[in-house]
Amino acid sequence: MLKVLIVEDERAIVDLIRLNLSAAGYQCTAVYNGLDAADLLENRRFDLILLDVMLPGADGYELMDYIRPLGIPVIFITAKHEVRDRVKGLKMGADDYLVKPFDIVELIARVETVLRRYHKGEKQIEVGDVLLDLEAHAVKKGGKPVNLTAKEFGLLALFIQNKNIALFREVLYEKVWEGEYFGDSRTVDLHVQRLRKKLGWENRLVTVHKIGYRLEVDE
Ligand code: CA
Repeated sequence: MLKVLIVEDERAIVDLIRLNLSAAGYQCTAVYNGLDAADLLENRRFDLILLDVMLPGADGYELMDYIRPLGIPVIFITAKHEVRDRVKGLKMGADDYLVKPFDIVELIARVETVLRRYHKGEKQIEVGDVLLDLEAHAVKKGGKPVNLTAKEFGLLALFIQNKNIALFREVLYEKVWEGEYFGDSRTVDLHVQRLRKKLGWENRLVTVHKIGYRLEVDE
């Protein structure tokens, strides 16, 4: 089940979103201020965040600093309809935005579109001649099976779900190894090198100076 975090201080709007997204099959978690959202994002994983701009504690723009390195898609929900605010939200890395009051059908459509863009919820994902089967935990290149370790597969799935986005070594480590990162990047680097070699992705899986790695895909 895909997990959606709702960050919004107007409870009536939270209830409306939660009711409708739950009915559509999403698992929803809601927080009513920015600081609670930051706390939650440190400890739990979400597939999508619906983010209000004006929030007590820390506002939606400030929260984007936490969210961007995590590679989680964001839809801004804002009462502000001025063009400059929309542009600011999108520039800061939001994937889409909705202006309050919004139609719930529109909300669900936007959620589905953004999740599709990130391949969330899909069983099979193709990048070039590489096919990743998330259910079978299998990978094929040019139709031929490629043997990956569980960690290599986890890394590949993360890269494919975050195409063209630089992912921090720290995030890769914490998501794939499910432990706290203590600054030793060799484990991640070694696995990425192995993955590159096995998939012939020397030019696709690029090193991003001081950050980590990015999977480059023409879209
Ligand atoms: Ca608000």
